[in-house]
Amino acid sequence: MDDTNGPGSRDGSEPEERQDLAAARRELVNALRERLDVSERTLSAIEAVPRHEFVPESRRPRAYADRPLPIGHDQTISAPHMVAMMTDLLDPDRGDRILEVGTGCGYHAAVIAELVEPGNVFSAEYVPELAADARDRLARLGYDVTVRAGDGREAFCDEAPFDAAFLTCAPSGDVPEPIVEQVRTGGRVVAPVDDGGFLDRGGQRLVRLTVREDGVDREDHGGVRFVPMQ
Ligand code: SAH
Repeated sequence: MDDTNGPGSRDGSEPEERQDLAAARRELVNALRERLDVSERTLSAIEAVPRHEFVPESRRPRAYADRPLPIGHDQTISAPHMVAMMTDLLDPDRGDRILEVGTGCGYHAAVIAELVEPGNVFSAEYVPELAADARDRLARLGYDVTVRAGDGREAFCDEAPFDAAFLTCAPSGDVPEPIVEQVRTGGRVVAPVDDGGFLDRGGQRLVRLTVREDGVDREDHGGVRFVPMQ
C-alpha cells in the first residue's frame, strides 16, 4: 500500500521540510524584530508568507536570508527588511484597498494581502511573464490579489480611489502624478524616488507621502536602491 510513509519517502519528508522552512522564517522574523522598529502586525504578516514559494527553485535555500534575490527578467524580490519597512510605513488598515506598482514575483503583494480583506490588493506588473507567473502563484497559495500586466501608472485607474499605494520600482523623478491622483485624500504613498543626483550612485530615497487636498506631505525614510520604473 502506498499510504505508509517510510522514512525519507516523498510524503513523509515534506512536512519535515515545511517545519525547517517555518523555523527559518521564524528566525528571520526574530532578526528583523531586533534590527528594525516595525510593528508586530507587520512582523506577523512576514512570518505568515512562505517566501520560498516566491523565489526560483535554485534560490530556495537562501529564501530566508535577509537579502534581495533575482527572480528573472533582470528583476529582484526585495530583501525582507525592505518589505517590512515599506509595509510598516504603508500601515494598511483591514478594510483598506491598496495599489502596488511592480508585482515582481508577488511576495510583497502577499504580505500586504495578509493585512487587508481578501480582494483588496491590486498589483500591476510591467513584464507580462512576471505578471502571469505571480497571478498563478498568488492564486495557488490562496491570496486573493488582482494582478494586471501593464504600466502601474494606469493599470488600475478603474479601481481608484485607493487608500494607499506603493511602488517597488523607482521612477526617474518624483512619484508619478497619475499614481498620487489615484489615492484618496488622507491616503499614503510609499515609494523610492530619485535623490536628485545628490548621491549620484543610482540610489534613491524612500519617501512616504500623505495625500492632502492641495498637495502632499512628505517624509524621508533614508537611502534605498530599487530597479528602475519603466
Ligand atoms: N514587489 C516585488 C518586487 C519586484 S521588483 C516582489 O515582491 O517581488 C519591481 C518590479 O517593478 C519589476 O518586476 C518590474 O518589472 C516592475 N515595474 C517596473 N516598471 C513598472 C511599471 N511602470 N509598472 C508596473 N511595474 C513595473
